[in-house]
Amino acid sequence: MRKLKLYEDLGCASCNVQINESWNYFLDCPALQESWKVLFHTFWQEVQSLILKSAKKDLSRSQVVSLTLALIGKLIDDLTFRTLKQWACEGKILFAHSKFIQKSLLLSDTVSNTFDATLLLHFIHLFKAIIWKSRCDKQIKWEVEHQISHKQKCSQDQDKVNEEAVMHLDVIIEGQRPGNNDQDENEFSGNSIDSQTQVLDDIDSPVRPLPIRSDSR
Ligand SMILES: [Zn+2]
Repeated sequence: MRKLKLYEDLGCASCNVQINESWNYFLDCPALQESWKVLFHTFWQEVQSLILKSAKKDLSRSQVVSLTLALIGKLIDDLTFRTLKQWACEGKILFAHSKFIQKSLLLSDTVSNTFDATLLLHFIHLFKAIIWKSRCDKQIKWEVEHQISHKQKCSQDQDKVNEEAVMHLDVIIEGQRPGNNDQDENEFSGNSIDSQTQVLDDIDSPVRPLPIRSDSR
């Protein structure tokens, strides 16, 4: 969909390293690390209040902190957060994480599903508002520097550009679906549950996942 000829030298849209911007590269791109820190900070607060709100038993302050730690990690470089963001970007959460929270907060299956869906919505909202926006801003800056005009990009119709940006995200996601994550199975070794993921679409939940739309013009 994107006019490839115009973007031959773009490389990674965020840092312009001359590589194919794969999904894995995108998740670790150095130019987006500051944005990930901003996302993490806000997400941390949101997860904490979600845990407090959802718990069916009284939790101490330190219990809430340790549950949040177990779920999303302490820093953006933690394997826990790396794994979480990789799956959450696809609207999925590790089955082991989901069961861990359900057990820790004494949630029914329905409330547990709502918890998972809400967690993912928070993440996707922040991802779209912070990470994807930062990436698109950087790409637009690059287009300006390379004098790629709006006219060049959409010679036929206006909507095409937005469509292209959305398509591009889809392509990255589809093209780089991670396989079974062996690392994660060790994290909850006390659990006999395999590392499975829950797909939001499979859950009968009142909360609808937000469609990922690009803000690029
Ligand atoms: Zn990059």
